[in-house]
Amino acid sequence: MRPDLESTPKLGFGCMRLPLLDPADQQSIDLAQLEQMVDAFLEGGGTYFDTAFVYHEGASEKALGQALVARHPRESFTIATKCLAWAIGSAEEAKSNLATSLERLGTDYIDFYLLHNVGGPRTAKFDEYGMWDFVREQKAAGRIRNWGFSMHDGPEALDALLEAHPDADFVQLQVNYLDWENPVTRSRACMEVAAKHGVPVVVMEPARGGRLAELPEQVAAPLLACRPDLSMASWAYRFCYNLPNVLTVLSGMSTIEQTRQNVAEFRASAPFSPEEERALAEAREMLEKLAAVPCTNCRYCVKDCPQGVAIPEIMSLLNLELMTGNRAFAKGLYSWQAVKPASECIACGACESMCPQSIDIVHQLEVAAEHFE
Ligand code: SF4
Ligand code: SF4
Repeated sequence: MRPDLESTPKLGFGCMRLPLLDPADQQSIDLAQLEQMVDAFLEGGGTYFDTAFVYHEGASEKALGQALVARHPRESFTIATKCLAWAIGSAEEAKSNLATSLERLGTDYIDFYLLHNVGGPRTAKFDEYGMWDFVREQKAAGRIRNWGFSMHDGPEALDALLEAHPDADFVQLQVNYLDWENPVTRSRACMEVAAKHGVPVVVMEPARGGRLAELPEQVAAPLLACRPDLSMASWAYRFCYNLPNVLTVLSGMSTIEQTRQNVAEFRASAPFSPEEERALAEAREMLEKLAAVPCTNCRYCVKDCPQGVAIPEIMSLLNLELMTGNRAFAKGLYSWQAVKPASECIACGACESMCPQSIDIVHQLEVAAEHFE
């Protein structure tokens, strides 16, 4: 049976950017502060905690085991964790991640187990390792309550995955108001595919790595004029809370203050009024106009590229960098998506002759290689 949309609070606690005692040491999680954050989240009515085998080099799962599992009744919360099989050298090692996660977390079952970052060339590794049957077996054995996958890919890939694996209990997708109609991410179309298959969605990146929480002044203006009392982040979260078929919306929590604010804003959140919808549409339009490369993701350029460079994906990340002013975030996604890099381009020009937008692709790829590699 698939998870119940009604019984899961819409705000989820993301454990990817937990507070650190030493900013240079990803494993030095501030356990005392994390305990306060966990308690504030539970007291605020939250239940869903999202971590992964690789977050904080393994320390995220361990800290969650100490701050949450060891201190609260097991039935009062749910845990999601993930296996990054495509980045692991063998099927045996990938499958052994589950036992390690259970041990780190100090529990004998995972409520939501995800195959991590499926999509693109990475899907083949999950197939080769037999990870789909593995999660089915583990669910039958009671070590997993629900299994699904997180994905950074388009609606066609999602549709194919859900056709191949119709028993997936949920999916995790990148959804936010900026990606909603983005020609590469196509969040709206992905949400429609999930709904068509009747599969609930866990929303990740509702504030685009925090960047929708800090909008350029001119973009923030219509939102502030409409609701001077609301933070920019709350607009981003409300957009996602109000979507149908959403299981929960993940917010990466980093401090106790942020946790309290997220919980308070979540509890006060309501559907958008028509005036608020207009203000958000205006802000979104202004953000989109900040995009420099007019790529529409038609993909005409891709098929004749002798190097297989991921041109539209790279153009999208250049635009993301410009819109958000956050090179580190775009660079992180660039490596995370593991696409054929811009530096593989041999400047043959075949793509430029195919591009209906007359984009100077070779130059843009040089910029991307400089910024992201
Ligand atoms: S110019 Fe570069 S990106 Fe374009 S087709 Fe040639 S190798 Fe591919
Ligand atoms: S042909 Fe041009 S517009 Fe189409 S995907 Fe390639 S770069 Fe983008």
